[in-house]
Amino acid sequence: MSGGPSPVRKHFLPTDKKNLMQCKYCSGPHSLVKCSGNTTNMFNHLKANHVEIYNALMIEIDEKKSNLKRKHENKENSSSTNKSTSAQNNESVSSSASESLTTTEPSEQSGRENIKYSFKNISSFQEGGTKHKNLTDKILFMICKDSEPFSMVEREGFIKMMKYAVPNYKVPSRQTFINHLDSKYDTVSQKYKILLKNVTCVTLTTDIWTESKNTHFIFVTY
Ligand SMILES: [Zn+2]
Repeated sequence: MSGGPSPVRKHFLPTDKKNLMQCKYCSGPHSLVKCSGNTTNMFNHLKANHVEIYNALMIEIDEKKSNLKRKHENKENSSSTNKSTSAQNNESVSSSASESLTTTEPSEQSGRENIKYSFKNISSFQEGGTKHKNLTDKILFMICKDSEPFSMVEREGFIKMMKYAVPNYKVPSRQTFINHLDSKYDTVSQKYKILLKNVTCVTLTTDIWTESKNTHFIFVTY
């Protein structure tokens, strides 16, 4: 069963070298994929490097197959209730089966919607995307709340966990988080300045303690 060119191909661009395809989503030497007549390497590349695209692709292929099957079954059912000659039936079944390979059915649209959603989801995790921003904020919150060092975001275990949980999110560098905290500080301090403008007296309580040899905390409550 083949419905024209494999849908995996649309994720790759041809190169000037025959049998070498360029991945649309990454660069560097590993983004060039050898494919001498088959699509295995392309599937493997997506699976290893762009798991969400791979998953969406698998859904697309599955839906294509089940649509084809459903169409074939529907045709067989309708032709068995239809009491025309069996020779005509056979002909109509076979012609509709070949037709379904080439025509676009409305039910394929849900597959396309899935893919659209997946791409939207992926771009949301890229720098500048909403999910990227929210996730970065959450990590920064965790660093502050749990008194984690900034270096946490560069530790192997953390990166591995994040890669598994959100494969499309690239954890920003330690410096990015530091800058981020600085800008948050500016925002929050502005907020408090406005808040305290109309206050006549403020009570502050401070506490200081040592967490480890090098880390000291000053805690202020008001
Ligand atoms: Zn790639």
